[in-house]
Amino acid sequence: AEGEGERPAPEQHSEDQEQAEAQPRLDNAAFVILARNKDLDDLRTTLIQLELAFNSRYHYPYVFLNDMPFTDQFIEGVQEVISGKAEFGLIPKEHWSYPDWIDQDKARQRREEMQRQNVFYAMSESYRHMCRFNSGFFYLHPLLDPYEWYWRVEPSVQFPCHIDYDPFRYLRDHNKLYSFTISIQEYPNTIPSLWNTSLSFIKERPDLIPKENMWQFVETTNPTTGLPEYNNCHFWSNFEIANLNFWRSGEYRAYFEYLDRAGGFFYERWGDAPVHSLAIAMFLRSDQVHWFEDMGYFHNPLWNCPQDAEVHKRLGCYCDPKQSVQVKHAWWSCTQKFNALAGQ
Ligand code: GDP
Ligand code: MN
Repeated sequence: AEGEGERPAPEQHSEDQEQAEAQPRLDNAAFVILARNKDLDDLRTTLIQLELAFNSRYHYPYVFLNDMPFTDQFIEGVQEVISGKAEFGLIPKEHWSYPDWIDQDKARQRREEMQRQNVFYAMSESYRHMCRFNSGFFYLHPLLDPYEWYWRVEPSVQFPCHIDYDPFRYLRDHNKLYSFTISIQEYPNTIPSLWNTSLSFIKERPDLIPKENMWQFVETTNPTTGLPEYNNCHFWSNFEIANLNFWRSGEYRAYFEYLDRAGGFFYERWGDAPVHSLAIAMFLRSDQVHWFEDMGYFHNPLWNCPQDAEVHKRLGCYCDPKQSVQVKHAWWSCTQKFNALAGQ
């Protein structure tokens, strides 16, 4: 009879059912979170969402990193809301300080010039150390030694949709090395010489550059000069699920060291996002990179939100598909360009 013995709709799995269906977690994957002690409240809000959406069924471990020692309050505060093992690491001084070849007076002058040009974070020294750390050092932290895969999470980001499969396993099983949710164009005034420095590297080390790569993702032709230039496309690195061995490779280390010597992390304000993206474009093929279209994500001020109505409903998303960056800011987004290249 009507209403009797009614079965739940397929999208209304119970936690227990999902637990039983979930495949075991990979044993070499972890979340990586760089944070300050003052980020505790914003981070807890994010972690509660991430656990509800995904990790309460997998219990992936977490590695928290900081340039200052974490306080007991921070350690207890995050442990209260997560279901995986947590480790807390201090970043070694060599990975968060000025290298001896950097002229700190020149760096200060350049910060002041950038301030006059209204560059975001123009004056911040810590922001520059953070970008350099995320570009060249996070994957060398000893707490990450046991891992091959990482998922980068930042305080205050949101996961507005249920995540009904294991993204680590997905990447591994599909031979992907890097993944993103949001891809946009960088502000050129943060990276005036990053493009030319990268071209010099390629010229000096052609032996390191594979024949097949996805350089087209980042290159455009200047209509006036006819010369190739950076289209400013990059993957937004506040979200990354990727393979640590790519960053640990000799090719990437050589590229990072070349950039580091050039000084742009301090004389300009090179972000880890364009650095990672130029490296991916140089060393990887588009089929080794994945866009998680179905991963709801928010980092102020941009969203990634599933477009397909059935997916949106099944995953219980609270985001608005029209707010998704490739829809709302189609001119600024690089996701379409990636899809065209990757044939997705
Ligand atoms: P934005 O996303 O580019 O505006 O930069 P954020 O302020 O979100 O910083 C990026 C990441 O680095 C976040 O995970 C921050 O918590 C972290 N972060 C930024 N600055 C520092 C710092 O000085 N020390 C530490 N330990 N973490 C930092
Ligand atoms: Mn951020």
